[in-house]
Amino acid sequence: MTITQPDLSVFTTLESEVRSYCRGWPTVFHRAQGSRMYDEDGHEYLDFFAGAGSLNYGHNNAVLKRALLDYLERDGVTHGLDMSTTAKRTFLESFQNTVLRPRDLPYKVMFPGPTGTNAVEAALKLARKVKGRETIVSFTNAFHGMSLGSLAVTGNAFKRAGAGVPLTHATPMPFDHYMDGKTPDFLWFERLLRDHGSGLDQPAAVIVETIQGEGGINVARPEWLRALARICQEHDMLLIVDDIQMGCGRTGAFFSFEEAGITPDIVTVSKSISGYGLPMSLCLFRQELDVWEPGEHNGTFRGNNPAFVTAAAALNAYWADDKLEQQTLAHAQTIEAALRDTAAHHSGSAYRGRGMVWGLELADPHHAGRVARRAFELGLLIETSGAYGQVVKLLPPLTVTTDELDQGLRITQRAVYETA
Ligand code: PLP
Repeated sequence: MTITQPDLSVFTTLESEVRSYCRGWPTVFHRAQGSRMYDEDGHEYLDFFAGAGSLNYGHNNAVLKRALLDYLERDGVTHGLDMSTTAKRTFLESFQNTVLRPRDLPYKVMFPGPTGTNAVEAALKLARKVKGRETIVSFTNAFHGMSLGSLAVTGNAFKRAGAGVPLTHATPMPFDHYMDGKTPDFLWFERLLRDHGSGLDQPAAVIVETIQGEGGINVARPEWLRALARICQEHDMLLIVDDIQMGCGRTGAFFSFEEAGITPDIVTVSKSISGYGLPMSLCLFRQELDVWEPGEHNGTFRGNNPAFVTAAAALNAYWADDKLEQQTLAHAQTIEAALRDTAAHHSGSAYRGRGMVWGLELADPHHAGRVARRAFELGLLIETSGAYGQVVKLLPPLTVTTDELDQGLRITQRAVYETA
């Protein structure tokens, strides 16, 4: 593809240096549909980043768009206070009927604010309130958001340094595979919990991602998650699963923890819950944990009604049966085969993932960045992941077609070869 020089001047002069994703994709996007984005000059890009996982059903999904347009056209409520609205009612009923009830999940639903980090903050606050303790256990390479509470349970040193204040009341433990199998799972954690001389204050909760999306596509084994759930029970700690990136079908089932057969005490959901890229997040918790006082956690934008509309439409269109889940699991095999092939031709590389989230770690930690840049030139949007940006991350929309998936995988393979 020939890239003409886009006019980026207002972004580079007026927008803060903190801007991030746009640096890797130096063009001006104009339109998006399904698995593709188009820039101002009409160049087409296959999007295997899907709005950082917020577009599991693709860009401007026709079913969701219709529901949103109908709602706007009839002057449905668009502001975001937590009033009772028809849009919220429809969402709650759809969520109960398509997600909670079929899985027998005993959760109440809290709307903590528009973004993922809002849900994490609410989860941590609630766990501390319920248990009357301060410490939260998190894991190496975890990512839970950029506000102070969620940053305290995030691993990345660069992101943590941005806090400007000490990040406290959190203790990191090794995630699955972190010790390369050299020590039994949870040896260190259980030892500290049992030993009154360890210096570990009794934690209120443990927060975990089943697959660490930002931390390098590190996949926790189901047996590791089950052991973690058991330890939480034995030691009176709440288990929080942060399903913000891996939920909403990314790994196949609606919740990523379903495969392990565990029922967390608290679950955070965001990104693809609205299905349309509209800000929305949920904090779900067992009924008996609902110890909030009215308004104790409040905010202006806790009820994004347009997001409720698209969320309900997405649940009814994609989660009334298991077609999407089955398709995701079938696509997983295609992606895994392509990565296996690529890894076989690049010594020292490794691939890992589940469902429609995969990572390719290359021997040279800088290689992944080169792959993402070359992929962009070839018309594919992919990102890197991991503390050093050392992993090529594949996160296509779940609604990607077989042809699009093949095309994106071919471009990825070509980019890896050409930048080796
Ligand atoms: N938790 C996880 C697992 C995430 O992947 C993210 C974002 O990538 C967040 C929390 C934070 O969500 P947000 O960026 O919407 O605040």
